Amino acid sequence: MKVEGRRESSNIRDQRGGVGKKAAAGIGGGGMILAVIIYMLTGQNVAPQLAQTQAQSQKCVGAECQVDTQAADSNTKGHAYQTGEFKNEGELKKFVSVILASTEDVWNQVFKENGLQYHEPSLTLFSQAVDTGCGHADYNAGPFYCSADKSVFIDLNFLADMSKTLGAGGDFAYAYVIAHEVGHHVQNELGYLVKYGSQEQMLRKSGKEEEANFISVQTELQADCFGGVWANREGKKYNSISDADIAKGINAAKAVGDDKLGVKRRENFGHGSAEMRMKWLKRGLTTGDIKQCDTRVYTTLDQLQNI
Ligand SMILES: [Zn+2]
Repeated sequence: MKVEGRRESSNIRDQRGGVGKKAAAGIGGGGMILAVIIYMLTGQNVAPQLAQTQAQSQKCVGAECQVDTQAADSNTKGHAYQTGEFKNEGELKKFVSVILASTEDVWNQVFKENGLQYHEPSLTLFSQAVDTGCGHADYNAGPFYCSADKSVFIDLNFLADMSKTLGAGGDFAYAYVIAHEVGHHVQNELGYLVKYGSQEQMLRKSGKEEEANFISVQTELQADCFGGVWANREGKKYNSISDADIAKGINAAKAVGDDKLGVKRRENFGHGSAEMRMKWLKRGLTTGDIKQCDTRVYTTLDQLQNI
């Protein structure tokens, strides 16, 4: 990607070096809306991370409280500094800041086109651990969006390790991870996140796991599609994205499966989830139109798959 000399965002909150204390419990009151979505490498066990995030959910009592994580195991291959994708952490931070600024430009424009006003999220950098309005999180949680804070949280070390954790390097893959999380903020801005979250929670409460999982998938695929819309606009505006970049981003989307379905319903779900992610990213990427990202009009997994 071409990012040299471009504007950096002023919405970066740098909390690196301040290791979060354990469990900021008892935030707010009222109905808890929590959707915890962990992405993982297909076929790898993320039960420990799931247990961790389930523990978080006990502490998350904000009215709009969503944690979305893109977690993965760490093994094999080198990270971004070793592979030369970024020279050092400062360079990676700058890249993140330029991509965030790009999402601001794109979403301000898209909202304007639709007669709406976009409120930019912050992006909080942390190292090792952080306390958020959605609970305590650490490196293993991966990048996530917390709707209570209206902030994307990223440990730069996790991002640097992505080429080994996801087996999918390339700067567009990193940008896509950020764009996906910002996609959840866009959902929040449009009111989808609260709606999806409360529906999902009600279904889980009444033991309807399959239906609740389906809503998770709808939420995630929409964020992927929004990530694609960003990529479409970014590419057009800056002529910054090559076909090779897109191939790497799609590879990253393919490499990442769905945790809930993966852990709980792998036998039924197979490898469809990664395929779906790729399709919805491509849909946003080729159309650049948020109206094409309405996953709610589809009522079965097959329909989401066969768009
Ligand atoms: Zn997500």
